[in-house]
Amino acid sequence: MPEKDKLTKYIRSLFSEPEAFIPLHEPHFNGNEKEYLLKCIDTNFVSSVGEFVGRFEQKCAEYTGAKYAVATMNGTSALHIALQLAGVQDGDEVITQALTFIATANAISYTGGKPVFLDVDRDTMGLSPAALSAWLEENVELRETLATQRVVHAYNKKTGRRISACVPMHTFGHPAKLDELKNILDKYKIPMIEDAAESIGSYFKGKHTGTFGNIGILSFNGNKVITTGGGGMILTDNKLLAQAAKHLTTQAKVPHDWEYQHDQIGYNYRLTNIAAALGCAQMESLDDILQKKRTLAEHYSNFFKDSEYRFFNEPVNCQSNYWLNSIFTPDRKSRDELLEYTNKMGVMTRPAWKPMNHLPMFAHCETDELTNTTWLTDRIVNIPSSAILN
Ligand SMILES: *Cc1c(COP(=O)(O)O)cnc(C)c1O
Repeated sequence: MPEKDKLTKYIRSLFSEPEAFIPLHEPHFNGNEKEYLLKCIDTNFVSSVGEFVGRFEQKCAEYTGAKYAVATMNGTSALHIALQLAGVQDGDEVITQALTFIATANAISYTGGKPVFLDVDRDTMGLSPAALSAWLEENVELRETLATQRVVHAYNKKTGRRISACVPMHTFGHPAKLDELKNILDKYKIPMIEDAAESIGSYFKGKHTGTFGNIGILSFNGNKVITTGGGGMILTDNKLLAQAAKHLTTQAKVPHDWEYQHDQIGYNYRLTNIAAALGCAQMESLDDILQKKRTLAEHYSNFFKDSEYRFFNEPVNCQSNYWLNSIFTPDRKSRDELLEYTNKMGVMTRPAWKPMNHLPMFAHCETDELTNTTWLTDRIVNIPSSAILN
């Protein structure tokens, strides 16, 4: 039997679905979701004020180990605010990986930042410390800024632009090499903002992703490990940053009993109580969902031991949530054949995103060689990953 046929049959058997369409990732509502949602409606607290917002924030802080968590309407807005709080200004450069979802590059653009797309590692699919270090060494010098004597910033020698943040992303839930990245960035005085949108429940050396940088963000979009319909979270250990995040996401309104005072341009980015109610219930199920996802990954890992497709196991020193299980095909042609066949057969699979510099808006951006990015995007296929194993 051809490999792609064997694989399709195996996936159907795992999900006990001989006939029906098998999606890539489905939400999982098995707990108190309905009860909490009804409570919002019964109490009339449906908008951005209500008990669930604070509870959801607290649960996320406790779970990740971040000192503070600030809820937002989605992960993209969380990233936008995180970058602004890191000090990214119009015309600055922001380093990230070429292999990421569009939201990373879009959020950088909202601040007026210019993305620089660097390569990823093959063994994490996240930003490569070697690529980062090589690019910084070649392109960057530290300068004292004139206006603020003795404050040192990284500048791109060729473009003259300041490099004001770096955004590693934990691809498909697998942690990037956070300690190495952090060490390099500290040397160059560049703040690290972790795009942990895909990695709730993923740990690097026992510490939760999203808590290594100055700020981290999570997403609770419908296709993520847990969902609030749409939602995001800003994580930080810095009290002032957390306060500023809450301020900026609530139209920069200065608290007052009745006066409309706003002290800067803010955003209407707060999460609603309805979404947070879902979030509270989902957080209660998170450990169960993660366990199911890891069991599924184990099944896949065993199945692919004698296959021409290679299963991607969690990187060393990491515990991954296996948000989207990934396999590597031998080459691009067999990737396309597999995508074609499985999708035709009602088993949803997807390639990796196009590298950001292949999109028209970002085609002019700086990059390095992107050797691993090209190698990976030619081969990655994401396979059904919902936490619904029987
Ligand atoms: C999902 C995601 C986001 C943000 O997603 P929202 O849909 O805005 O919640 C950001 N970055 C990455 C890498 C993502 O996968």
